[in-house]
Amino acid sequence: MARILKNKQLMNTKLATNYGGWMYCNQCGENIGYLCYSTYDKLELTYECNCGSKGSMLFDFEDSKNGQKCTDELVIIKNRLCCGLDNEPLITILEKK
Ligand SMILES: [Zn+2]
Repeated sequence: MARILKNKQLMNTKLATNYGGWMYCNQCGENIGYLCYSTYDKLELTYECNCGSKGSMLFDFEDSKNGQKCTDELVIIKNRLCCGLDNEPLITILEKK
């Protein structure tokens, strides 16, 4: 399902596709993690790569709804951070990289 991006800001970060897939650090080119495509409406992420480069991502979509504030902790299933309410996988961060 294609969605129309409203806002997209990538800082020091490359993404394999338009709004999902593997994420890469611009500075060292290392694979940072994997973003699941369809399970989020808005994403804000800031991180620091092990090479010291700081990056961030911000996305939302034309059809984004104002999400409910989710107060539940994200749960980790396998190596994915998942929503605490429905256990949908959201994002994988490769911490060793
Ligand atoms: Zn890096």
